[in-house]
Amino acid sequence: MTELERKQDRAPVPSEWTYASAPEARDIVTLQERYGHYVGGEWLEPRETYTTISPATEEPLAEVGQATPEEVQAAVAAAREAFSNGWSDIAPSERAKYLFRIARILQERSREFAVLESLNGGKPIKESRDVDLPLSAAHFFYYAGWADKLEYAFPNQRPRPVGVAGQIIPWNFPLLMLAWKIAPALAAGNTVVLKPAETTPLSALLFCDVLRQAELPPGVVNIVTGDGRTGAEIVKSEGVDKVAFTGSTEVGKAIQRELAGTGKKLTLELGGKAANIIFDDAALDQAVEGIINGIYFNQGHVCCAGSRLLVQESIYEPVVEKLKRRLTTLRVGDPLDKNTDVGAINSKQQLDKIQELVASGAEEGAEIYQPPCRLPEKGYWFAPTVFTNVAQSYRIAQEEIFGPVLSILTFRTPEEAVEKANNTPYGLSAGVWTEKGSRILWMAERLRAGVVWANTYNRFDPSSPFGGYKESGFGREGGRHGLEPYLELT
Ligand code: NDP
Repeated sequence: MTELERKQDRAPVPSEWTYASAPEARDIVTLQERYGHYVGGEWLEPRETYTTISPATEEPLAEVGQATPEEVQAAVAAAREAFSNGWSDIAPSERAKYLFRIARILQERSREFAVLESLNGGKPIKESRDVDLPLSAAHFFYYAGWADKLEYAFPNQRPRPVGVAGQIIPWNFPLLMLAWKIAPALAAGNTVVLKPAETTPLSALLFCDVLRQAELPPGVVNIVTGDGRTGAEIVKSEGVDKVAFTGSTEVGKAIQRELAGTGKKLTLELGGKAANIIFDDAALDQAVEGIINGIYFNQGHVCCAGSRLLVQESIYEPVVEKLKRRLTTLRVGDPLDKNTDVGAINSKQQLDKIQELVASGAEEGAEIYQPPCRLPEKGYWFAPTVFTNVAQSYRIAQEEIFGPVLSILTFRTPEEAVEKANNTPYGLSAGVWTEKGSRILWMAERLRAGVVWANTYNRFDPSSPFGGYKESGFGREGGRHGLEPYLELT
């Protein structure tokens, strides 16, 4: 025995291995007690308010405006005036400068925004810090580059801005969805009225400060907060020329009905029930990481989450075993702790929905597995969950759960994998894990999904278009394609 081995032999064995907590400092964020609506470059005192909370602790964070129809109309009027009085006519290279400025300010203030995003939304700080913020800034950089090159993006088509864009975003990626919406709209020369989700308004409100810092002309971007009624008011406003919506399929359908026959442009980015398909020649450990990232990233509050795992029958057992083992290492808890992998569920309403669907899975006959983990007493939490023995007809295999819940199914042949993957009303994304390039291409051709990831999952880039088929909506965001809905092309 060496000296080192003797020492190790005598060292007390810890009873439990845990990570020491590593909380991100919260005091980088200064919250106001009360926020108004950002209209025409000014703060409009709201007539009605509600309280926005931290889903991890249920602690109230601030009072936020619940926009009335009159307040929405004021925002639309400010956007119209800014459109007509300069913004649509300024040199495109000038528009680009504002976008570059916004991108750089977001980078400079990224820690502040990341903490706020985790505080108000419940997502782990390592995700808001390493994904939401860098991608939000990248979106503004990317579209800044297009602003003065629209003629090259759409040759011989005389691209012109549409006018006022009404934009409604969800709570799963509050700042990133704002960036996906605002950056292409401004690059194309439009003005904007945007409504963040009721539960996550704070990063959009802090973004107004960025707009002021960037000296964006008043009225080019207006932000009104409130619940679904505020969104509905934006949709039906006569002063809005184009509506961009990300959220549930149900609300998306209602918006489409409302706009039918009005001539307003519309893009819808709706739900999904993506298949993540693992072939028996895939690198299994990497695939298991891809499965984890596919469904537990952002608590599964991801429209393109890989919520249906399709495993080739011959490797079913090792995959499930590795997956369960990996699940026990996921750290669930304080979103502001840098070690946290799975944060809080965004709202009580969403938690109820997850619980109801999970109960239906157990009732219908699927087998549930949850790793042992201690959930905080306050706040909204749900343990990472896996269902095996899932039939295609079960609700957990058909409906979007939008939570950290995975349903595992099996297949034998590539044809069967395609058939099962496409057996859903949705068509947003899919994942394929195999070492054969030819099989990846064969699968990608047949999967009815807007995005197909190969040997990876949940990868985003501003230059890559994103959007769905069928009930996942229409229109694309990102890339050159993402400019098109904001332009009249003749
Ligand atoms: P919603 O579709 O209701 O919310 C998306 C946005 O639309 C929010 O800003 C919301 O406001 C607003 N909104 C709600 N009703 C209307 C309306 N009638 N007209 C215009 N805008 C409206 O999604 P939920 O937050 O209710 O989530 C429900 C389910 O939707 C989730 O469980 C999930 O399955 C799915 N979902 C999918 C998303 C995606 O990225 N594809 C994102 C979010 C949810 P408010 O916040 O006040 O409700």
